Amino acid sequence: MIQKKNTKTNGFELMKTLRLILGDQLNHKHSWFKNKESNCIYLMAEMRQETDYVIHHVQKVVAFFMAMRSFAEELQDKGHTVSYFKINAKENPQELSKLIQRTITENQIEKFEYQLPDEYRLDQQLKEICQNLDIETAAVDSEHFYTERHELANFFEGKKSLLMESFYRMMRKKHGVLMASNSNPEGGKWNFDQSNRKKWQGNPEIPHERGFRKDASAILVELEEAGIETFGNIPNNNLSWPTTRADSLQVLNHFCDELLVHFGDYQDALHTSQKYLFHSRLSFAMNSKMLSPKEVIDKVVDTYLENKNQIDISQVEGFVRQILGWREYMRGIYWKEMPNYATLNKLNNTNKLPEFFWTGKTKMNCLKHAIGQSLDDAYAHHIQRLMVIGNYALLTQINPDEIDKWYLGVYIDALEWVEITNTRGMSQFADGGIVATKPYVSSANYINKMGNYCKNCYYKHTQKTGEAACPFNSLYWHFLDEKKEYFKDNQRMGMMLNLLKKKDAKELEQLKERAQQVIENPDNF
Ligand SMILES: Cc1cc2nc3c(=O)[nH]c(=O)nc-3n(C[C@H](O)[C@H](O)[C@H](O)COP(=O)(O)OP(=O)(O)OC[C@H]3O[C@@H](n4cnc5c(N)ncnc54)[C@H](O)[C@@H]3O)c2cc1C
Ligand code: SF4
Repeated sequence: MIQKKNTKTNGFELMKTLRLILGDQLNHKHSWFKNKESNCIYLMAEMRQETDYVIHHVQKVVAFFMAMRSFAEELQDKGHTVSYFKINAKENPQELSKLIQRTITENQIEKFEYQLPDEYRLDQQLKEICQNLDIETAAVDSEHFYTERHELANFFEGKKSLLMESFYRMMRKKHGVLMASNSNPEGGKWNFDQSNRKKWQGNPEIPHERGFRKDASAILVELEEAGIETFGNIPNNNLSWPTTRADSLQVLNHFCDELLVHFGDYQDALHTSQKYLFHSRLSFAMNSKMLSPKEVIDKVVDTYLENKNQIDISQVEGFVRQILGWREYMRGIYWKEMPNYATLNKLNNTNKLPEFFWTGKTKMNCLKHAIGQSLDDAYAHHIQRLMVIGNYALLTQINPDEIDKWYLGVYIDALEWVEITNTRGMSQFADGGIVATKPYVSSANYINKMGNYCKNCYYKHTQKTGEAACPFNSLYWHFLDEKKEYFKDNQRMGMMLNLLKKKDAKELEQLKERAQQVIENPDNF
């Protein structure tokens, strides 16, 4: 904290400081909280601007508010001064600039500080607020990520493509994670992706998830009174997500003790009766900053090192790659490409989001499960998001703006910096290949290979045309045909486009006709 000279006493005293904590900045270990500063007020508020920028799943709003409230209480218990505004508080002006200005005036604040936000929208807003304040202001690091905002941009400067793999290797070396020596990876390989593709068929047994039963009744009443629009529900009003640091640590321990041993193997698996498989469900705890990525990776790597005879390197590397690689990479891409990124629609996709995205009512079993689960639990794992829902959205050429809004609202962990790069970039190829080198599209073949959705589906995964044919099969060829001009110079699409060229004209016509029916009447399928 800045010290100012007190001319009356000729000594030094602390400047009276206001520090803003956003809802996703619940970092208990931030250096702000090391000492109890008597001249410092922490400001936290539940605000309409955050509940209303998109319609959110009710579990997401409740989880953030619960986590914020617990965080504020913990700070107060440690002796910090916290000024907290609940959503319905009469004194809550619902406007960030007003709230900050008023708190400054009422408390004769001399300095305003905030942690760098992760979202572009908030970054702009806070810069603007600071410009209009007539006191000293400062933005400090949120002390959460491994990388700084522009580290990825600097790393790739002058390079043609932004390959995640080279970023990931740099990160492993720089931070000494899973390294046998300075330049050699543990296990002799950087990437065990090839062994992370098993289908789960009932074995090994999946331990019961580490859920919680947090009574959400009171907050639900508050949301209703405030008139906040949400969707989805909370079964029996019991929220099952971690909303304190202690809860988050329990989820991490559960992952290390029970799930890590098979994480990599079944990372891409899909199953009708298993929503979580061996996934960690740590994204909300990390994105709200209750846990740092470093402590998650350290704990996971330590567990591996202590149990090398039981846990294979491929299980651990798969997990480390997601956090040290993909998570940091997406953040770097976001700061490199925003704000333009949010407007990209390189494939010119314009179709509307089908109604069944809001109900889960479709005869397509894979979508029924993946979307139904998203609506019920505010969660779907990566392959459900990418190769089931995202795959369908891209093949049916839905407008990425609509897709983004849906993903941003539905998932417990959805914050723009990591949602938009995954959705618009990795999943919808709307960025023209900044994140992915080729579009993630597939026919029913992939979905059938990775799980059991096709087994009891109304449609036949082996059929391409006709009433019983799986819609993914015709949509796949239709998409390739529609976008062949766009992808003609993409080497990674060469094989697919060659197969398209060889397709019998009559057959292609039939496939396209069927795909067109699906696209025009998605809710009939
Ligand atoms: C279309 C689409 C949208 C997505 N939207 C989000 C989002 O809004 N927020 C979000 O946190 N993740 C998002 N992801 C990434 C990933 O699906 C989720 O992080 C993951 O499913 C969360 O569940 P988990 O904690 O059980 O993950 P695990 O499978 O256990 O993985 C561990 C951790 O790795 C990180 N991770 C894994 N994959 C990615 C990735 N592609 N990008 C960034 N971090 C990753 C997450 O922090 C996750 O908690 C999205 C992926 C896709 C394909
Ligand atoms: S047959 Fe097609 S629609 Fe049905 S589950 Fe398989 S991929 Fe999905």
